[in-house]
Amino acid sequence: MKTKLTLLSFLAIAALLLSACGGTKSPAAGDKLPVLATTSIVADVVRQVGGDYVQVTTLLPLGTDPHTFEPRPQDAAAIADSALVFANGAGLEEFLAPLLENAGATDKLVEVSQGIELLPFEGEEHHHEGEGEGEGEEHHHEGGDPHTWMDPNNVMLWSENIAAALSAADPAHAEAYRANAAAYQEQLRVLDAWIRQQVAPIPVEKRLFVSDHAAWGYFAEEYGFTQVGTITASFSTGASPSAQELAALEEEIRSLGVQVILLGTDVNPNLAEQIAQDTGARIVRVYHGSLTPADGPAATYLDFMRYNVTAIVDALK
Ligand SMILES: [Zn+2]
Repeated sequence: MKTKLTLLSFLAIAALLLSACGGTKSPAAGDKLPVLATTSIVADVVRQVGGDYVQVTTLLPLGTDPHTFEPRPQDAAAIADSALVFANGAGLEEFLAPLLENAGATDKLVEVSQGIELLPFEGEEHHHEGEGEGEGEEHHHEGGDPHTWMDPNNVMLWSENIAAALSAADPAHAEAYRANAAAYQEQLRVLDAWIRQQVAPIPVEKRLFVSDHAAWGYFAEEYGFTQVGTITASFSTGASPSAQELAALEEEIRSLGVQVILLGTDVNPNLAEQIAQDTGARIVRVYHGSLTPADGPAATYLDFMRYNVTAIVDALK
């Protein structure tokens, strides 16, 4: 009788302990390294490298333009809950530095574009309409083109940076992170070869486009296209052009015979539509700063590039 009671109370205590542990630390969730990624594109690549050992939260909602994103109160909590904060870097996330400073978390930042040689800004004059408006003040283009993901060869370097940061934060799984990065790089090489194959039939003199903003520099440089001009003279979607700038762009479109205007799905279409009407150039909707939901055509970075390249190539054929 006595032993039975003891056994029962032991079992009861054990059950209590188990349930208490289970509530806060199930092996599946508790063993994963919690990390934050700014854009869905960065988040996808972090997931590819992190695999089963990383829990990735995405800061920007799907479909958000990263240039104009305004942080919300819950974003500070998301930073506090994360071991690392992965950002594109290169000046893309203008909202991020103050957010990290306020959260005392600047040491969590990992810029995945670190080490990529940034393309310089080649616009005519830098115009700073933001001045005096309050929020646009910090607008600076000196850093170069932030759209590094438009060339999968750059994303190979991202995956190296991500594997290094995850390995430093979680050395027990360093081998897995390295292996995952290597496997993903192989997929990126396949993508790169596929892009070359797709663009090959387009004569070089037809590989011209205008874009809503200077998002396609890395793609153009890698695959032999020319980004003839942009509607907003900036790497950011936040700026707006003058009437003279628009007229000059339309003149360029006409004189060079540009047939295509690349317009991000996350960008206001009004100006592009006007230019298309004036010049006869075609608008091609492309994905720019965000992936789509899982059932959309650009749910992963690989699909994002395949979709965009197909759209561009089909329009220029
Ligand atoms: Zn952009």
